[in-house]
Amino acid sequence: MIVKYLGTGAAEGIPAVFCHCEVCNHARVNKGRNIRTRSQALIDGKLLLDFGPDTFLHSLEYNIQLADIQVCFVTHSHDDHLYLEDLRARRRSRANLRLGTPVLKVYGGQGVREILKPKDDGFVTKDNSVVFCQIKPFEQVEILNEYKVTALPAVHTSNEPFVYVIQSNTKTFLYGHDTDYFEENVWEYLKKNNIYFDAVSLDCTEGVKHIEYTGHMNFERMQNMCERLRIEGCIDVNTQIVANHISHNGLANYNKANEVGKSLGYIVSYDGMEIEV
Ligand SMILES: [Zn+2]
Ligand SMILES: [Zn+2]
Ligand SMILES: [Zn+2]
Repeated sequence: MIVKYLGTGAAEGIPAVFCHCEVCNHARVNKGRNIRTRSQALIDGKLLLDFGPDTFLHSLEYNIQLADIQVCFVTHSHDDHLYLEDLRARRRSRANLRLGTPVLKVYGGQGVREILKPKDDGFVTKDNSVVFCQIKPFEQVEILNEYKVTALPAVHTSNEPFVYVIQSNTKTFLYGHDTDYFEENVWEYLKKNNIYFDAVSLDCTEGVKHIEYTGHMNFERMQNMCERLRIEGCIDVNTQIVANHISHNGLANYNKANEVGKSLGYIVSYDGMEIEV
């Protein structure tokens, strides 16, 4: 399984649209891996994770023909993960899709449903080119005859946010954005189902900053999460651990974050990064 990180930033991206902070100023001058567009990932070129406001930019940057994508899993309804206007542009009055182009299935929880406002038959656009498929907590769906995707409840301030467990025939990957340390029912599920992750991508929104609130993580909370994952047998020394969804408020440019990440054995994401799971 190849996971391509199209965007690796949090809500404002880096440099943030309006910002004088050091991390943003550094990114404006040094660019490269310091630039973070809003989080989105693509698995094996065909399974899209989130549909944020930088989707258009990602399609240009990485040569992605979005019209050919058939499945997108949206983690939650926050607008850095779901930009409705571009999704609705798949309707035929705006898009010239080749005859026989399959519909785009968009999976998500109740909060995503409330943004997409699908008709009774699930279709989001009048011409039936985008369909919403509601997924329930702990539900598993089989897609593209190739993957099983399970929605697990995230701990985040939106309506029914999910992290997704993506399983191919041989590998298992956790896309863990946006979330805090899991609730006990998720730990129970992971344990009961003997889930072992070959790679985990975890929320590191707040980087090296100390935080009090619930809903995101920093490097410190990532360590707590990984410790528990280890105890439950979900990860081991062979698991790739990625710190991702990094905010300018996390007080770390790429080099700083990478230095801290490296010392903990984590891979710090950057836009365009690919990992083989
Ligand atoms: Zn986010
Ligand atoms: Zn900033
Ligand atoms: Zn969010």
